[in-house]
Amino acid sequence: MTRGATHPSERFPLARTAHPVPEAERAAILAAPGFGRHFTDHMASAVWTPEADWHNHAVAALEPFSLHPSAAVLHYAQEIFEGLKAYRHADGSVWLFRPERNARRFARSAERMGLPALPEDDFLAGIEALIRADEPWVPVTTGEESLYIRPFMFAAESFLGVRPAERIVHCVIACPAQPYFASATSGVTLWVSRSYTRAGRGGTGAAKCGGNYGASLAAQVEAEANGCDQVLYLDSAGEDGCVEESGAMNLFLVTSRGELITPALGTILEGITRDTVLALAPEFGLTPVERAVTFKELSTGITDGTVTEVFAAGTAAVITPVAGIKGEGYALTIGGGEPGKQTAALRERVLDIQYGRVEDTHGWLRRAC
Ligand SMILES: *Cc1c(COP(=O)(O)O)cnc(C)c1O
Repeated sequence: MTRGATHPSERFPLARTAHPVPEAERAAILAAPGFGRHFTDHMASAVWTPEADWHNHAVAALEPFSLHPSAAVLHYAQEIFEGLKAYRHADGSVWLFRPERNARRFARSAERMGLPALPEDDFLAGIEALIRADEPWVPVTTGEESLYIRPFMFAAESFLGVRPAERIVHCVIACPAQPYFASATSGVTLWVSRSYTRAGRGGTGAAKCGGNYGASLAAQVEAEANGCDQVLYLDSAGEDGCVEESGAMNLFLVTSRGELITPALGTILEGITRDTVLALAPEFGLTPVERAVTFKELSTGITDGTVTEVFAAGTAAVITPVAGIKGEGYALTIGGGEPGKQTAALRERVLDIQYGRVEDTHGWLRRAC
């Protein structure tokens, strides 16, 4: 810790819970945590009002919120969130991966949703203070276990008028997590929806907000009804237009010419895994390309073999091979349905960096405790 800088535990003082989950129960949870079902003992939080700015920073017992039925978030979905992981290295230390990027994106999402900016240092301090309080909850890795961290912010003011709320709660919770998809290495199938899009020009596609996810659920149901794992969203021109992303993952194509292509930013979410994969591409002999990708280019490329691999990238699922793409009246199989070599190599490298198994030459890791 640099002298003069505020220690996260000073910024978010800890009031330790009197009722932590008993050690044996925690051990049982950590042996098979699943994803998003079991939470650690504490939560970090702070409150914002126009008069007092951010105040009441604390780490305290995880407990339910008390909200008036008119709380703005329940009616107008003024809410944003982030998702990142803490990784335990072989020597027991715990690390975050590029959390400054999450801090910056959280600030941009806040601006889009009319929420107050949380200083990026406070975003990081809240996360680090929570990890220190709940350090025993960070799994010792046998495969890809981690502590998944969920910072979020919402409109807690009791008022039914439509305007930016004047009482905002920021909170960070955490849950031990196993790999998000059971099929993480064998590949997922994506459903191309004709009924639903995710974003449009001027919309909230680039913000990480709950509303985008609420709107995605009907499409997810449609995908599953058609035997697929996730949705592949196209822009509003549908199959005559461009490919955007999946519900919580950015999309990548590997071509026979050695390019790694991903849709350009605009209406999609600026994924940190996306940026990481683009930065790593040259180390695998791939040329990173960010540009519009038409659906036609993707589908004909898969059929004629110029698109050799497709994968999706995001924090929860890291890098997930896409084995097939289905839509009304067609089913495309990518690379014979087998996960691609470059996909596997990139996935391995990202995980090796995150778990400290190779040198962090890009300076992406930040020690949490
Ligand atoms: C969070 C998210 C991603 C992935 O972003 P990462 O920073 O890599 O986790 C991609 N798309 C959407 C819509 C998301 O919400």
